[in-house]
This record gives sequence, structure tokens and C-alpha cells, in this order.
Amino acid sequence: MTKTARGTSVVQKCLVFTAADESKASGLYPYFKPIERICGTKVVIDGRELIMAGSNNYLGLATDPRVKLAATEAIKEFGTSCSGSRFMNGTLVLHEELERRLAAFVGKDSALCFTTGYMTNLGAISALVDRGTHVVCDRYNHASIVDGVCMAAGLHRGVNFHRYRHGDLFDLEVVLGTIPPHSKTLLVTDGVFSMEGDIVNLPAIKSFAAAHGATLYLDEAHAIGVLGKTGRGTAEHFGGGCMPDIVMCTFSKAFGSTGGFIAGERKVVDYIKHTARPLIFSASIPPAAIAAVLKSLEIIQGEPKRILRLQQIAAKMKNGLSSLGYDTGNSETPIVPLIIGDPEKTFRLFNAFFERGVYVNPVVTPAVPPDRCLLRTSYMATQTDQELDTILSVAEDEGKRLGIIR
Ligand code: PMP
Repeated sequence: MTKTARGTSVVQKCLVFTAADESKASGLYPYFKPIERICGTKVVIDGRELIMAGSNNYLGLATDPRVKLAATEAIKEFGTSCSGSRFMNGTLVLHEELERRLAAFVGKDSALCFTTGYMTNLGAISALVDRGTHVVCDRYNHASIVDGVCMAAGLHRGVNFHRYRHGDLFDLEVVLGTIPPHSKTLLVTDGVFSMEGDIVNLPAIKSFAAAHGATLYLDEAHAIGVLGKTGRGTAEHFGGGCMPDIVMCTFSKAFGSTGGFIAGERKVVDYIKHTARPLIFSASIPPAAIAAVLKSLEIIQGEPKRILRLQQIAAKMKNGLSSLGYDTGNSETPIVPLIIGDPEKTFRLFNAFFERGVYVNPVVTPAVPPDRCLLRTSYMATQTDQELDTILSVAEDEGKRLGIIR
């Protein structure tokens, strides 16, 4: 019974939601597959071992024995939860030590950690953006950025949200030109775009921000630990000199943990610290996760050869997959998309990879535009050449069999 005295129930739409059931019935449903075991670069699903070519554990640190030990030791010392917000009982000496070290690593005055990367963007953007602010975003920016702007718009009237075509600097200039001079403006972009692995033209974006008096906010989720000789991210990739005003990053990728941070000028970070609702009204990062990031940061700083290896793997896979005939877009990172277009073909190729022992991620709308469905392949510094060659040979066989490549 879904009718209520006042009309249709809010759950009515759930009862008629059939897309997932239909996909399961067709045998093509690819989501929520439980992983039974993780052994470095391999995972066990349905009792079968697969090569993981779909993780964001770029440096392999999530399973590094030193990182696991640091997390275990933190549990012994501090327990499994902080059981409270950073504001109250949820700040440990570990949080503050990590914030000091992250700020120094990215070359900013201060840093502030949130419980997830998603909450970092939600919290920082909704704290910064208020009445009369213009927010300018690349259309391919991560959903957490968009949701941060939506949250700000829910909290304040008169938030102006502008989006420019992905990577299109002419469109950015047009959009900036529509904003009245001297308006408060926040220009937000991913450093590395999460689905297609391409790198933002940061020097150009920085010049636009400077010319329009905009504050530049850079999401480095897929860039820190990945780009630059020492893993400091997109600005280092471009030779330094184009540092954003505010750097954001997650811990769920190269840092092998969970959580996120922003870094910037002391007063800006302090303001966010005292006003960001996702920081104030949610429990802080648990001790094990913080200790894991601290150890990962030490390894990132002490072992630059991991970053070099990751960059070599990225180049090998981009070249290998494009020379097979796949459309790999403009990827220059360990995220190498196989852009297929059609969702059903994408699911079929996902299943073919899966049956042949390779795990990749199928990505369809709304994560990508409807005509850009893709398999998101991503790589880790710890993968062997033999594993990478297996992935390439599966990609060749199955792509040809399904008529995706010739
Ligand atoms: N920003 C970007 C660019 C991302 O890709 C992601 C996660 N995929 C996030 C933010 C959110 O990070 P987390 O998953 O750690 O919450």
C-alpha cells in the first residue's frame, strides 16, 4: 500500500525501480561484487583470483606491511574509533601531527583533515561559498565538488554556479567574462580527472584565476603521490610555479587509507575548521586510518622510485591499450579509460575481462556523459610486468571478440 492520506508515498519510486533487477536478470550487473580477499595486486571474488586493474591504491600502500603495522599499532594505543567530532573529543595528537606534515609536504601554512575525501570537498566548498559567490567548475569535476556547491546553495541564497566545457579554456574565458567584475569567485578544478585520467592545464587555469581575481581550489585526489618527481601533484608536474590557493586531496588513493585534507593560508584553513558542517557534525578519522596516512606519507617521501615506477606503468598501459586500437582519451596518468560509448557494450567488455581474470571498473552515466561510457582501468606501482602484459592480452582478445577493436 503506497498511497497515503496526503497522496503518493515517497517510497513509490523505489517500488517501481527495476533497472538494477533487470540488469541482474540479464547477467550483466557489474556492481557491488564482494571481494573475499586482497593479496597485493590480486583480489579473490566468487572464489576466483583476479588481477586488480581498477583500484586507486596507486602506490600499493594500502597493503604495504609497514602501513598495516602502523595502523595496527594505532589501534593498540588509541582504540578503533575517536567516537566524536574533531571539534570536541575527536582530535588526537595523530590528527595534528598529520596536518603539520601535510602542510609542509604541499608547501602551505596549514592543513585540515576530514573523515572522507567527499566530506573534504563538501565541507571546504560549502564553508567558502556564500551569498553572492560565483563558483566556476570544469564539467568533469568530481561529484563531491558539485555537491559542495549544492550544499552552499542550500545554506545561502545568491550562490552562482557556472560550469565550462571539460578542458575548454575558451569556454572558461567566456564563463569568466559573464561574471561581474570584483565578484567573489571560486575557480575549482580536479588536477587529474577521475574517470579519464587527463591532467588539467594548471598554468593556464592559474593565469585565468589571477586575471579575474578568483581563488583557485585544486582537487588533487588522483595527483598527489602520482604526478611530479616527488609526488607533490599537478603543480610539480608542470614544474612548480602554478600553486593553487587551496589544495585538496583524499587519503583513499595514493595514501592507501581513508579521509581527506585541504591545505592553504592559515586564516583560510582556520575559518573552514570552525565552520565546515561535515567536519563539525561527524566523527573524525579513526586512529588506524590516520596512522596509515602518516606512514604512507613517510614512504612517499622516502621512496620516490615508487612514483617513477607508477609513471612508467601508466605510460606502458596508455601506449599498449591505444596501440591495440582503444580510444583512451587524453589520459597521462595511471587512470587509462577504454572509452566505448555504449553502456551495454561496456558491461559486456567488463564481464569478458572479469571472466578472463581481470577486474576493471565499468563507468556509465551519470558518472560520465551518456555517450562516453567507459571501462576505467587503473594501475598500481606494485604491479608486475607480467600482470600488465596479461591485462593487455585480455584487452586485445576480448576487444576483438566483441568487435570493439579491430
Ligand atoms: N575528489 C575526486 C577527484 C575523487 O575522484 C574522489 C573519489 N573518487 C573524491 C574527491 C572523494 O574521495 P573519497 O572517495 O576519498 O571520499
